[in-house]
Amino acid sequence: MASLPWSSSLASALADRQAAGRYRRVRTRLGAQGVNVVLDGKPMLSFCSNDYLGLATHPNIKKAFIGTANAEGVGSGAAHLLSGHSRTHQQLENALVEFTGQQRVLLFSSGYQANLGVIDGLMSRGDKVIQDKLNHASLLDGGRLSEATQVRYPHADMSRLERRLVQADTADGRCLVVSDGVFSMDGDIVPLPELLALSKKHHAGVLIDDAHGLGVLGAKGKGCLEHWQIESDSLPIVMGTFGKAFGTAGAFVAADEVVIETLIQQSRTFVYTTAQPAAIAAATLASLKLVETEHWRREKLQALIQQFRLGAKELGLTLMDSMTAIQPLVLGDVEQAVRVGKALEDKGFLVGVIRPPTVPEGAARLRVTLSATHTEQDVNQLLDALEAVLCIAQ
Ligand SMILES: *Cc1c(COP(=O)(O)O)cnc(C)c1O
Repeated sequence: MASLPWSSSLASALADRQAAGRYRRVRTRLGAQGVNVVLDGKPMLSFCSNDYLGLATHPNIKKAFIGTANAEGVGSGAAHLLSGHSRTHQQLENALVEFTGQQRVLLFSSGYQANLGVIDGLMSRGDKVIQDKLNHASLLDGGRLSEATQVRYPHADMSRLERRLVQADTADGRCLVVSDGVFSMDGDIVPLPELLALSKKHHAGVLIDDAHGLGVLGAKGKGCLEHWQIESDSLPIVMGTFGKAFGTAGAFVAADEVVIETLIQQSRTFVYTTAQPAAIAAATLASLKLVETEHWRREKLQALIQQFRLGAKELGLTLMDSMTAIQPLVLGDVEQAVRVGKALEDKGFLVGVIRPPTVPEGAARLRVTLSATHTEQDVNQLLDALEAVLCIAQ
């Protein structure tokens, strides 16, 4: 085995990371994905999946996947611009045009790629990209890839956004305001009416990444636009992913004809990658139908969220101001967060332990995510475990 010439400096950085309690580890799941999982051989009740509506194992979705894999094969064989774009991909794009109310949709193989592709495909050196400080890493990376000037504003602070817009002198060039729809580590929702009004006033475009809102927010699951009751033609670009509430994989960007055609020409993460398997597009089509029709999944999720919040409040715990499936419990100290996460795990509960640099220094937290497949009893059990563990940890 050949090592890199700088292997010893990598090893010492790894040791430092471990000492700081920030070491990341991959664990192996055995069997089905869901609320009850077996990780590294141990059965766990999971509160860290993004399968918010419990669709990942739905029989209709599996059937669509298998049927299309049988008909079209597994690998798509090529990029969309060559022979990789199947009729199934096209049907999914058409269905998403209906769902989002936008003119055109473009599929990407993952949300990470969609965000790199949409920003890099539209912006270039000399342009300005203005982002919320807590935006998803893929949006920040997309900004860097584009070589546009990167500007950030404090989380959800609309007066600071306006100052940035004034400083950017948007009359004099392209400027794109970019925000998560639902913030992935805090669970709060973008103040969209103000953000759209300010961007319009200052002639800036807007891109909203609604990875955690689509399927979950609004009576029809149409995400943060529906939550704010805003018409889709007020939002220039929306991006969504399928790996979360849709329970499959991949992502899309929805916008007008000119934006989508531009992305097809210039978006490197669209042009230079193999199309996602058509079977996954078929699975997503099936899941879109369920998202649109099975309202009970959103209602049940909301009931579980309320139950968890009420129970946590009764325990004297401070939750963040979130009405979404993401319910963070900020502990502050990295060591305490790791200790509490580990103690919960020993009791068979899996929650996300989120540490800097994923969240700001001093804001280490447990990130509880709820799913429509949890039961009331699951949530009660988690609350009991939290009570026991936090008592000991203090
Ligand atoms: C998960 C996520 C992504 C990335 O999507 P993938 O399909 O997992 O690559 C992008 N943005 C946000 C806000 C996300 O939560």
